[in-house]
Amino acid sequence: MASINANFLKLKAGYLFPEIGRRVKAFTDSNPEGAAKLIRCGIGDVTEPLPEAVRKAMHEGVDEQGDAATFKGYGPEQGYEFLRQAIVDNQFADLGISADEVFISDGSKCDTGNILDIFGAGNTIAVTDPVYPVYVDTNVMAGNTGEGDANGAYEGLVYLPCTAENGFVADLPKEKVDLIYLCFPNNPTGTVATREQLKAWVDYAKANDSIILFDAAYEAFIQDPEIPRSIFEIEGAKDCCLEFRSFSKNGGFTGVRCAYTVIPKSVTGSTPDGTRIPLHQLWSRRHSTKFNGASYPVQKGAAAVFSAEGKAQVSALIEGYMTNAKLLREACQTAGLTVFGGENAPYVWVACPEGVSSWDMFDKMLNEANVVITPGAGFGSAGEGYFRISAFNSRKNVEEVCKRIAAAFA
Ligand SMILES: *Cc1c(COP(=O)(O)O)cnc(C)c1O
Repeated sequence: MASINANFLKLKAGYLFPEIGRRVKAFTDSNPEGAAKLIRCGIGDVTEPLPEAVRKAMHEGVDEQGDAATFKGYGPEQGYEFLRQAIVDNQFADLGISADEVFISDGSKCDTGNILDIFGAGNTIAVTDPVYPVYVDTNVMAGNTGEGDANGAYEGLVYLPCTAENGFVADLPKEKVDLIYLCFPNNPTGTVATREQLKAWVDYAKANDSIILFDAAYEAFIQDPEIPRSIFEIEGAKDCCLEFRSFSKNGGFTGVRCAYTVIPKSVTGSTPDGTRIPLHQLWSRRHSTKFNGASYPVQKGAAAVFSAEGKAQVSALIEGYMTNAKLLREACQTAGLTVFGGENAPYVWVACPEGVSSWDMFDKMLNEANVVITPGAGFGSAGEGYFRISAFNSRKNVEEVCKRIAAAFA
């Protein structure tokens, strides 16, 4: 008899996006007219085409693979030097990160989940509430939690509420935790943390010997020059932080797949007898055992994000999405709703009118405006009373959504 990883059975079946899918399908099945008008602002996926510089580089990469003289088989598991160096030069200049501290992968979703391979059992793990569900579910699968309750909260995790009162930046835990997941700019709230707030987190991590897993997938959307783009801008972070970055949201790589994890050699964890081991060493071993490198044409395409044309094209994409975010913010404000986020991130986080639940709001937007949003409660119980609108859409759709918001709240 093959026994299974029974931790999977703790996962809540009614997970957010399947439930959204079920309600949208019920609506479209019964309402063909509404179905034709439906605009999806729910799932955080980009909509605009890949930058031309990226496509050109990928074509070149494919052509190289078609010629025996330039053909490449397995590449370095950690990623090609040309891409790792381009990342360091363009994203971490002056932050003291070296190319061999960068690990290329096929996605940050995988990286943020797989990272648990290198941590032992018995860690106390803190997540924010609301939260990107991947952090929670991967800890459930790894056996780092107890059972989930009706709200989808798991025993054994430390939940850090992010509310309007704390500006959606979690307060430091009262207790000692070992691993902390932070995501800035944040998905789902679209909010950012200041240098002082991040410094407080790094100081906490150093004082408590904890590790911060910093997800910077939306770094490129930061408009305010005072907001740190990398956790490594904070003094002391190279002793206690890992950073996850992705080409998905800046370069539009959600369907192409390329991301990276930065692990400074100075970050260590402990064996049961207290010996300190660099996490870099463990991740390097894990990566080369379980991963055979991202595709060569894809890495060529990713490197082109840092070419002069690539940078200009990515800036134009970001600017387009951020204009969408601005329009959505204004439409919600004009409709009398209270909005957060959307100024340094492609997500607008909107407070539901008094007494309206986030799923009721989802149904109202679906039925009356034929717009799919994401109910805040799906990201954790502190998300109740809010909904997320994604700015990843065409301008035409966003303008239409703005009109429909105005009509729905008139
Ligand atoms: C989109 C997103 C990522 C990127 O995931 P990929 O697997 O690289 O596409 C990472 N973290 C968060 C919070 C995201 O929303």
